[in-house]
Parts: sequence; structure tokens; C-alpha cells
Amino acid sequence: MKSAFEAAQQYFDEAATVMDLSHSMRDLLVTPEREIKVQVPIKRDNGEIATFIGYRMQHNSARGPMKGGLRYHHEVNADEVLALASLMTWKTAVVDIPYGGAKGGISVNTKDLSLDELERLTRRFVDEIHDLFGPDKDIPAPDMGTNAQTMAWIMNQYEKFHGFAPACVTGKPVELYGAEGREEATGRGVGTLTLALLRKFGRSIESSTVAIQGFGNVGTFTASYLHKAGGKVVAISDVSGGVLNRAGIDIQAALDWVTEKKSLANFPGGDRITNEELLTLDVDVLIPAALGNVLTEDNAKDVRAKYIVEAANGPTTPEADTIFRQREISVLPDILANAGGVTVSYFEWVQNQQYFRWDLSRVREELERTMTRSFDKVWSIANEKKVPLRTAAYLLGIGRVSRATVLGGI
Ligand code: GLU
Repeated sequence: MKSAFEAAQQYFDEAATVMDLSHSMRDLLVTPEREIKVQVPIKRDNGEIATFIGYRMQHNSARGPMKGGLRYHHEVNADEVLALASLMTWKTAVVDIPYGGAKGGISVNTKDLSLDELERLTRRFVDEIHDLFGPDKDIPAPDMGTNAQTMAWIMNQYEKFHGFAPACVTGKPVELYGAEGREEATGRGVGTLTLALLRKFGRSIESSTVAIQGFGNVGTFTASYLHKAGGKVVAISDVSGGVLNRAGIDIQAALDWVTEKKSLANFPGGDRITNEELLTLDVDVLIPAALGNVLTEDNAKDVRAKYIVEAANGPTTPEADTIFRQREISVLPDILANAGGVTVSYFEWVQNQQYFRWDLSRVREELERTMTRSFDKVWSIANEKKVPLRTAAYLLGIGRVSRATVLGGI
């Protein structure tokens, strides 16, 4: 299998060829502006020292300050973070918010650390990189393994060096300069565009079945949204495995179960299935909302969904993507489908800069407008150029970044 960065590169190259992008511009756009790798030592609760590696990959700032999440996961490595940083550059351009792209992470298994240790880890990471990010440079946000609490620690630590600066990070708690609706935003955006995609094919959510892999921040809000919209969510899963119920899963019961037990294990609302089985279920819509690289050349031919909505970043390998094209399965790509999170991050940053708060209905309205407008644009490019939705999204994103680069000069 290709490395994460090679895979991202392949999607970029394909679109760059369709748009006849010059080699010099390609070189400029694929080369990251800055790669940061730092040692992050902490004192464990038992007094021992533990050393971790932290990354912040700053891919491109042609359209504005760089933006992207911070991931705490044991598989975090330089190649993956760089790939995810480049996805952020195209993602912010596709939804046309004034940002570039970055991503960070620490290679750590969060389950091995206490809350106090996680706080020390986060603060120490900020100590190492505080001069390299900030409201007008690069703005971190939550991703896998991090949440609003992590962002609150980042803001607090950053302010020790730089003074009051809530806009240095987004996805903060609502009580601490966070935006209403940021937590639900990625799932809500995924739900909104799932409905939009079905509509284009003359289908309705009420007559559709859905399987969702991942029941974390993105998966839970996506499931709730589609369930409320009248869809039948027949399968969900997390690291403990999946649940299948052909009559439709009681999403509220699953949410209550996970809130209490911290995992879907033993959830009684359906039959147990594996994560691998979930991906090949006979459903209308498949939504990978967890890890990358789950749809591969090994299972792509067995996928029975007609529509795939990429709520996760990089869930489909280029080999699997080719198979889906041949099989005429529509894939709504990550850089559009899951852009709701960074879009509401932008709203949070704007509110922080203006010392002004929006209410939830305004956040939801503006999110829906941004997502729908971007979707319509990508859809019309796909039809005009006769390319898949992924290529169309890259054409839009790369076009905007390269025009900004030419206009601004180097
Ligand atoms: N981690 C999210 C993403 O991959 C959100 C990034 C942000 O809000 O900056 O899009």
C-alpha cells in the first residue's frame, strides 16, 4: 500500500493533469512550507520521564493562515501528518474559507495517559511550538484523540507567552471562547451533504439505508442527523466492533450506551458484526467516519453501497477509488464531505477576532450555506469536465490555491 502522502499526491496529480498545471506550480504546491518535529518529554504521575514526538506540518499559506487539527494517536507519524496537512490546504480552498492547510499530532496512545499527564503533554507541546503558530499564522483544532479540553489547555498555555489570544486555536469549549455548534459541525456537514448527494440522484434519505463506521465525534453527530432526517441507520461501529439492525438502530439508545460505557461493546440494539463486515454491507450509503485507509483494493470490489460519503480523512486508497469509479459507485470526497468542522472553526475564529458571539441558529445557517454552495460548485465541475467528484473537488481547490499563489507572488 502507498504511504498516506503518496496517496494524497496521486489525487493531486490526477487533478493537476486535468487542469494542465505547470510542473513548477506542482512543485510549489506539493512542497510543504515548514515541517516541525519536536521532542515532548513529560513527567508521568509515577515520577518517571516519558518522551513523545510531536509534529506540526505547515503545508501551504497562499490563501491565509494555516489551519488544521491536532491528532493524538499511536499511529501518528510524519508522513501521515503531512498528507493530512495537504488535505487541509485543498479542503479550506474547496469551501472557500480564507485559510491555508496544516496538521499536527503526537504519537501517543491516549488511553495510556491520565488526564493530568495529557494536560502536561499538551502544555509541553505548546512550549515547544508556540512561536510557530497563532491567530495569524497557523490555528490548531481538534482531531482524532483531542477535544475541546485539549484546545482550552492550548489556549491557556499559548497566552502565557503571547497574552490574550483566543483565536490561536479553535474547537474550544463554548464556555471559553468556543463557538456554539462547533462540536456537531463535521457530522452536521456530512449529514447535509449526504442528503444533497442523494437528491442529485433523485433519491430520498427516507428511502435509504446507511452504515457508519466510527462512533466518535463525527460518527455520532452524522448518525443523529441522518436518523432525524428520516434515514435508516442500520449499522454503526467503533473500535470494539459493530452492530447491525436491519430495522434501524435506535441512535439515541446507542448514544446513551456510549456515554455511560465509553464503548459500543455489548450494546444490545442489534447483532454484532466486525468493522470489516460493516464496510461491505448491503446498504445505500456507506460513511467511513473513523480511520484512514479502510477502503482498499482488497475490499473495494465487495462494497455494496451505491454512495460513499467520506466523513474520515483519507478513508479510500487510490486503488480502491479506481475500483469504485469502474463500478460507478459515487464517492463524496473527504475534502468536501467533512469540511463542516473547519468551516465552523472559521466561524469561531471570526467571532474571537470580533469579540462577538453568534447564536446556534446563525452558525447552522451559515454552515449549511457554505456546504451546499461548495457541493453545488463541485457537482457542476464534475458534470462539466466529466470527472469524478473527487477530481472535481481537487480541481476547485487546486485552482483557488494556485490563483492565489500567482496573484500574491512568492
Ligand atoms: N480536524 C478537522 C479536519 O480534519 C478540523 C480542522 C479544523 O477545524 O481546523 O478537518
